[in-house]
Amino acid sequence: MGASCAKPVCKPLSGDFDDRYRPQRLFYPAGFAVYITLNRRKIMPAKVPHSSNVAGDFYVEDGCCTSCSMPFTVAPDLFESHPDGHCYVSKQPTIPAEVHRMTMAFEVQDVGCIRYKGQNRVIKILLIGKGEGDQIDHLDADLDLLNREVKADRWGLK
Ligand code: SF4
Repeated sequence: MGASCAKPVCKPLSGDFDDRYRPQRLFYPAGFAVYITLNRRKIMPAKVPHSSNVAGDFYVEDGCCTSCSMPFTVAPDLFESHPDGHCYVSKQPTIPAEVHRMTMAFEVQDVGCIRYKGQNRVIKILLIGKGEGDQIDHLDADLDLLNREVKADRWGLK
């Protein structure tokens, strides 16, 4: 049974009941999961672009390189290699064919260094559809949900 309190102000308004079954207690774990989900992007440390990236929405994260050279196989016009072997975005895509090649670079890259920090929802949905949603810096709640759905589908979890 619920804990009782001698103070009149602490008496339940009506009757006595087992507070283990208070609805809000049942929702504590779910509420915590929602809190983590909504604040995950704030909790995760910000990605730092390599200094050689040309200004724009697509970038290669600094210090994230195994010198895979894979971007050059699909988008040699959009990437260049730093003397240390680290690739970087040398040209932002401006036409659909370039956007397509850039998203292909996301798919072939070795360790997830290429990222998107823009706000274009079409590009975000394109990347999510390719299973690259985690490479997007800012996902709105609906696209975050879509990303989870796509990943679960690709991993056979549904
Ligand atoms: S895609 Fe990543 S691992 Fe491959 S060359 Fe570029 S920075 Fe290095």
